[in-house]
Amino acid sequence: MKVTFTAYHAVAEWKWDLPEDSDDTCGICRVQFEGTCAKCKYPGDDCPIVIGECTHCFHMHCIGDWLLSEQSQGKCPMCRQAFKERVAEAPVGARAPRQTPEEAAQTPARTR
Ligand SMILES: [Zn+2]
Ligand SMILES: [Zn+2]
Ligand SMILES: [Zn+2]
Repeated sequence: MKVTFTAYHAVAEWKWDLPEDSDDTCGICRVQFEGTCAKCKYPGDDCPIVIGECTHCFHMHCIGDWLLSEQSQGKCPMCRQAFKERVAEAPVGARAPRQTPEEAAQTPARTR
């Protein structure tokens, strides 16, 4: 099945900061993330997006309800991996290895 968008209404002035390879629609309610889940009226902070470690994204309310249901078994509804939340603000690889006290002490001394 091929979906062609004939008209795109640029209503949203903001976008979620989601991984590039992620979907822009919620895998549970199939609504775009610029919209809200079925329960909410206003998109944005009231209806936040959760990114899983598997890169699947959902409305927080959608995945929350899903994970509370017995059939979910704590798994992502898209790929059936254990669903783990990922923090959107921390890009992979951005974390620098911690400096050990010994390394910190090796800063060159100016006086000889
Ligand atoms: Zn949703
Ligand atoms: Zn919501
Ligand atoms: Zn997944």
